[in-house]
Amino acid sequence: MPPSTAQRNQQLVYAFDHKHRRPPMEHKDLLGGKGANLAEMTSVLKLPVPPGFTISTDACRAYMHTGWPVGLDAEIADHVAKLESTMGRKLGDPADPLLVSVRSGAKFSMPGMMDTVLNLGLNDKSVKGLAAGTGDERFAYDSYRRFISMYGRIVLDIPGDRFDGPLEAARERAGVRTDAEIPAAALKELCTEYKAVVKDATGKAFPQDPMKQLRGAVEAVFRSWNGARAIAYRVRERISHDLGTAVNVQTMVFGNRDDNSGTGVGFTRNAATGEDKPYGDFLVNAQGEDVVAGIRNTEDLDAMKRHFPAIHDELLDIFERLERHYQDMCDTEFTIEQGKLWMLQTRVGKRTGAAALRMAVDMTKGSGKGTARWKISREEALTRVTAEHLDSVLHPQFAGTGDVIAKGLAASPGAAVGKAYFTADDAEAAAKAGEPVILVTSETSPEDVHGMMVAQGILTARGGLVSHAAVVARGWGTPAVVGAESVRIHGKSFTSNGATVNEGDYLSLDGSSGTVVLGQMELENAQPPKEFDIILGWADAVRSKGKRPLGVRANADTGEDATKARELGAEGIGLCRTEHMFLAPDRLPVVRRMILARTDQEETEALEELRRVQQDDFTTILDAMDGLPVTVRLLDPPLHEFLPSVEELRIKEVTSGLDDEEKQLLAAAESWSEHNPMIGTRGVRLGVIKPGLYGMQVRALLEAAANLRKQGKNPIVEIMIPLTVTREEMHLARSWVQEEIDRAVKGLRNKPDITIGTMIETPRAAIRADQIAEEADFFSFGTNDLTQMAFGFSRDDVESRMMPAYLEQGLLKRNPFETIDADGVGELVRIGARLGRQTKPKLKLGVCGEHGGDPESIALFYDAGLNYVSCSPFRVPIARLAAAQAIVGAASSTA
Ligand code: PEP
Ligand code: MG
Repeated sequence: MPPSTAQRNQQLVYAFDHKHRRPPMEHKDLLGGKGANLAEMTSVLKLPVPPGFTISTDACRAYMHTGWPVGLDAEIADHVAKLESTMGRKLGDPADPLLVSVRSGAKFSMPGMMDTVLNLGLNDKSVKGLAAGTGDERFAYDSYRRFISMYGRIVLDIPGDRFDGPLEAARERAGVRTDAEIPAAALKELCTEYKAVVKDATGKAFPQDPMKQLRGAVEAVFRSWNGARAIAYRVRERISHDLGTAVNVQTMVFGNRDDNSGTGVGFTRNAATGEDKPYGDFLVNAQGEDVVAGIRNTEDLDAMKRHFPAIHDELLDIFERLERHYQDMCDTEFTIEQGKLWMLQTRVGKRTGAAALRMAVDMTKGSGKGTARWKISREEALTRVTAEHLDSVLHPQFAGTGDVIAKGLAASPGAAVGKAYFTADDAEAAAKAGEPVILVTSETSPEDVHGMMVAQGILTARGGLVSHAAVVARGWGTPAVVGAESVRIHGKSFTSNGATVNEGDYLSLDGSSGTVVLGQMELENAQPPKEFDIILGWADAVRSKGKRPLGVRANADTGEDATKARELGAEGIGLCRTEHMFLAPDRLPVVRRMILARTDQEETEALEELRRVQQDDFTTILDAMDGLPVTVRLLDPPLHEFLPSVEELRIKEVTSGLDDEEKQLLAAAESWSEHNPMIGTRGVRLGVIKPGLYGMQVRALLEAAANLRKQGKNPIVEIMIPLTVTREEMHLARSWVQEEIDRAVKGLRNKPDITIGTMIETPRAAIRADQIAEEADFFSFGTNDLTQMAFGFSRDDVESRMMPAYLEQGLLKRNPFETIDADGVGELVRIGARLGRQTKPKLKLGVCGEHGGDPESIALFYDAGLNYVSCSPFRVPIARLAAAQAIVGAASSTA
């Protein structure tokens, strides 16, 4: 996007009742979410909204690029003048002043940005007018002291505690316990003290000119867009840094005038459970912040009905109108000022996962009465549920909040509690002794799998979202936080942000948010509500019908994973990583024997032993997926991953010495070690130099399938060659596989249909997919490697150190290992798909990188013409929903 600067004559400020050409709620880009909804409520719904205006995001963007926009002061002055004439009061008027609130309001709600300044317009003179006008001096000076401290803190960046001391002292001097009891004279004095704090901290007097106050507040909102907390929030929520925020200036109404006043927040339905019953928190004689701060116990809407029966009816009527209008649950803020109801804000409300599911299903059945009845379609219902909603009902969560000692990448969702153990062996021993384990390591490698397997949760100090720990944990549904850089491990303890955790200490982690908490948090169990299956059923109907269905498979390497995946709705396996089968403690020594073999005979023997065990694995997997396709990928990672680490053996060599086998292992590890193993002897290249390996794997697979067929089962086998770059490689690899197939099916009357395909994991493979397709029956895009190779970003290293800086500085809009980089890697997928189909129009296309479980990426894969996506078993429900949403979205954008 080119830098947006305010053009001369470009309108920057819009009154809430401005006549937009389209409904204001469609102008969230320009007015922000809050501003768009205030305008919608004012100009379309004609609800009682205190008048005001919105300074647009155009103004904020212009400010960010070139400073305070020319003409903005004049426009604001114009709108203030109109507001003054509507209200019959003037800002700063010493007799009867107009007061306004100033609130930020970006397109998406954004905690972490400057929130609200209330009572703007008060100064030494107008406070007297407020006292006279309301006949309540205490109220006037209480409002003024709140304004000075709020403005001081938020706009002038004065630390909040500078205002706490004088307030406490005022309470003490007055001999009262609560702020509400401080008498008027003491509040008046407090205002003087607060102004002195401002003078002392900023070197300038507290601004008395209301227009200067307003400009200061607006500028503070603009600035807060680029505050550290706001940037961090946007990175986490994947919100673009370019959007900018709007600023809403609104006439103040007071819920704390008297007992005929009050304030509250209301939801048109229950946001926690989804029940179709309005819900709210209310306080008589209070300001909005009192409700949220939880200083006083709030009452519910039934209590409000007792205090204000007519207003209660009016509010519920407004709730119905809001729901009908937005066709969704809304949340609202409202105030009653001396018996009159005012709506301060509304928006489509946030909700829990369970509530989202229930509301989506309920709203298809119809709501409202008589002619006001409305309902949404099933397709629309599908769009109301997000991946996070589904995730939250599938995984246990923290039941409360705790002492956060570290933050890392949210690698595998769900919460876990256990005792810290620092090696896989210790973790395994502790688990055997019945302890719940959190495995804490710098990073994990295949050698740690036995410890990871028994862990309730995994915490690593290094590594990214596609690091070994993250991928394995997601595959198993084990909660994991990776790349928690503040975690410093020293032997059997770690420190992080001042806390020390020793072996055996309790630790809790939440892999959905990336937080690590000291001690034992209470967890809430995942119990998907009945609507979970209903929504996914609708999603499957959308996905499987129509011109272009989109299948969902799982990445699974064991019978257990395959069973789980099938239970969660997987329609096959898109990636079975056979190397994972080699990592079990009983297999690793055999793999090592094969690597160490000095003669063909020794190698053949080791391969034969591997074939036997691998065949058993294939049998359980094919059995679990009976009747559904299973894509088995031949061995991919560099062989040195199966060998112990060179450093460890070297240390042992000089400390306690090595036995004969260890000496051999060290020699092998040294000879197989590579500077860049990820672009070394991997994938099909491994097959080229160890051809017996792939032959053995194919034999094991075909025998497993043949045995199952004999039992009347229907195994559907797809054999996949990893990391192919050229047609010639694919031709050679295909010939090995075909040879085994020919041998296996010789003499059979009904020859099984076994297809041979390849992964597309390098840029070359994508741009020469037309040639590779000559030798392939199907492609599966390995977008983990494709991302790594297209960017030249090491998938194991860049995420924890470099990625946060790239995201914060806006160098990347998304972590490309999480959401496919649409312009680059996504383009390679599109090219690969197009060229592949150019050679073979019916070429089957799938994706099995981590992106296969990411909703936004799924939409791109559908658009690129893929037939299925494949992801970790626990992401399958999310992928089913996202695939349906992609289809619904594509249909509505072409409609
Ligand atoms: C990939 O590269 O996207 C892929 C699925 O393979 P792996 O993650 O095993 O390298
Ligand atoms: Mg790969």
